[in-house]
Amino acid sequence: MAFLKLLFRNKLAAMGAVVLAFIVVLVILTPILPLQNPDITATADRFKRPFTDGHLLGTDHLGRDLLSRLLWGTRLSLAVGVAAAVLAAFFGSAIGITAGYFGGKVDNIFMRGVDMLMAFPYILLALAIVAALGPGLMNALIAVAAVNVPFFARNIRGITVGLAGREFIDAARLAGMGHARIILTELLPNVLPVIIIAMSTTVGWMILETAGLSFLGLGSQPPQADLGSMLGEARSALISHPHTSVVPGIMIFLIVMSINLLGDGVRDALDPRLRSGALSRPLPTTLVNRKGNIPAATDDLLAIQELETQFHVGKRIYKAVGGVSLAVKPGECLGVIGESGSGKSVTALSVMGLVASPPGVITGGAVRFQGEDLVGAPYETLRQKRGDRVAYIFQDPLSTLHPLYKVGQQLAEAIQSHHRVSNAEARSRAIQLLKDVRIPNAESRVDNYPHEMSGGMRQRVGIAMSLANEPDVIIADEPTTALDVTVQAQILSLLDDLRRERGLAIIFITHDFGVVAQLCDRMAVMYAGRIVEEGPTGSVLSHPLHPYTKRLIACVPELGEGRREMAAIPGLPPVVDDLPPGCAFAPRCEKAREECRQGDITLDRSGARAVRCLYPEETL
Ligand code: ADP
Ligand code: MG
Repeated sequence: MAFLKLLFRNKLAAMGAVVLAFIVVLVILTPILPLQNPDITATADRFKRPFTDGHLLGTDHLGRDLLSRLLWGTRLSLAVGVAAAVLAAFFGSAIGITAGYFGGKVDNIFMRGVDMLMAFPYILLALAIVAALGPGLMNALIAVAAVNVPFFARNIRGITVGLAGREFIDAARLAGMGHARIILTELLPNVLPVIIIAMSTTVGWMILETAGLSFLGLGSQPPQADLGSMLGEARSALISHPHTSVVPGIMIFLIVMSINLLGDGVRDALDPRLRSGALSRPLPTTLVNRKGNIPAATDDLLAIQELETQFHVGKRIYKAVGGVSLAVKPGECLGVIGESGSGKSVTALSVMGLVASPPGVITGGAVRFQGEDLVGAPYETLRQKRGDRVAYIFQDPLSTLHPLYKVGQQLAEAIQSHHRVSNAEARSRAIQLLKDVRIPNAESRVDNYPHEMSGGMRQRVGIAMSLANEPDVIIADEPTTALDVTVQAQILSLLDDLRRERGLAIIFITHDFGVVAQLCDRMAVMYAGRIVEEGPTGSVLSHPLHPYTKRLIACVPELGEGRREMAAIPGLPPVVDDLPPGCAFAPRCEKAREECRQGDITLDRSGARAVRCLYPEETL
C-alpha cells in the first residue's frame, strides 16, 4: 500500500500506469470483442482508410482489418516481451546470485561467460541466435531473452557480492543453514526489489527488440500479426498509405513510453536509498506543533519549560516526554536520572530540535537559551547554536564520529564550522583538545581514524568535540557509560574544572548515582516521560521523597556491604503510548492507593524540594 502511494505520487508514473492498464485490459478482452478475423484477406478492400464502414482503423495491403490485427498483434508482442523479460530476469538473476554468493572460481567462470555474451554487439547476437535456431516467434523470444541475461547477471551479482559478506549471512551460516536455503531465504528477499526494478526498466526495451526482429521477418511469421511484422509489412506502402505504418507505430510508442515511465516510477518507489532519502527526508529540525500557552522567559541560562515531545507513528502517539521542566544557571550541574526508556534522551535531543521528524513532534512547552525560545526557532538560529553555544556528548561515540575521516579533521571541522580559523590553528587546537581529554600521544592520535581507537578513546574524542567551541551548556547523555572507572574519574574532574573555571553549565544524564553524587549540584528523577522528583543532590540521595526514587537508590549495590539483598523494583515501566491515569508509577508502587490511580498528580514545588507524589516518603 505504501508502495502504491509512493508510486502514484509520481505523476508521470501514474500516467504510464493508466495508459498501460488500458492497453492491457484491451488485449485481455480481445478474444471476446466483436472483431473480424485478423487473418482473412479481402483483396477488394485493400488499403481502406481509417474510419471507413466496418473498418475503424482501415485495412492493410491484403484487405485485412487493421484494428483486429492491431489488438491481436499487441497481445502477442506484449506476451512475448514480458515472457522474454521474465526469462532473462530468471536466468540472469540465478547466475548473478550464484556467482556473487559463492565468489572465487564460480564467480570467475560465470562472469567470464557473461562477458563473452556481452562482447558481441547486442542486436547482432540476437540475429545470430535466430539465424542458428531458425526464424519464428519462439526463437525470437529466446534470442531476446538470451541477449538480456548479461544485464541481469551483472546487476544482481554486484548487489549479491555486497550482501554476501554481511553479518546476517554469516549468522545464517553459523546457524547451520545450507547454501540453497541461505540463497532463497536470506539473499533473494534482499535482491528481489533490484530484480523487479531491473525488469520494469527493461521490459519496454525487450518489446522493442522483439518487434525489431519481427520487422526483419525473423520473428512472427505470416499471417500471424505482431507489432513488428505489421510495421514490416507496411513498409512498402509507407508513402502511399501511411496509416498502415502509423497504426502499429503509435501503439509501440504508447506501450514503450508507458512501460518506461511506470518502470522509472517503480524504481524510485522501490529503491531503498530513494525511499528513505529523497522521497521522505527527515527534517533538519524537529517538527513543532504547539497548542496552548508558551511559558514566559526566566533568567536561567537554559530552561526547559513544560516540554512535551511525542512520536506520531501511524495512529499511535508515544508521549515520550510529557511536560518536563528543568533549568540550569551558569556553572551549575544538573543530574537527570531514570530507568532506560524514561525519556531522558528525547528530552535532551528536543533542546536543539534534534529529535528526528517524522515521527517526532514537539507538542508543547518551550526551551529557552538566555531567554530566547529555541522551539520553533528558524533552522539557521539552531544551526548556529548547535555545537557552539549548546554542545552534546552522546552515549554512542560511533554515531558521533564519521568513519572515513581522521579524528583530527573532524575536530577541526567542528571548530571551523563556527569560527574563522586557519587549518594549522584548528589542528593545534584539536591536539590540545585531545590532551584535555587525557588521550595519550595526542600529536599522533590526531591522525587516527575512529576505527583505530578503542571505544573509550572514541568516547573521549566525542567529549573533546563537544568542548571544541567552548560552549555555555553541555548536555551529556550517558557520556561515561563506555569508559573505565579511571578515565571516567578523569573526565568527570575535567568537566568539573570547566564549570568552575568557565561557568559551563552541564545537564548530565545518567543512571549512575555515584556519578550524580560526585558531579551534580541538583538532580531530577524521570519516570515515564515526567519529572517525579527534583532537588539538591545530597538531600535527594539521603532523603528521597518519591517511592520510585527510594526504590531506585535501593537498587544500587554498595562496595564492602557484603551480600546485601538487592531490592529490584517489580514490574516494568509503562508503555508511553498507553499511560495509566494518575501516577505512572502506581502499578509498581507498594504504597499506591485509590487516589493515586486517578486524575493528574502535579509536581509539588512548594517546599525546598519538588515531588510528584500524594504520599511522599517523608515530609520535609
Ligand atoms: P532514555 O530515558 O532511555 O534515554 P528515550 O528518551 O530514548 O529513553 O526514550 C523515551 C521513550 O520514547 C521510549 O519509550 C521510547 O520507546 C520512545 N521512543 C524513542 N524514539 C522513538 C521513535 N522514533 N518512535 C517511537 N517511540 C520512540
Ligand atoms: Mg537514552
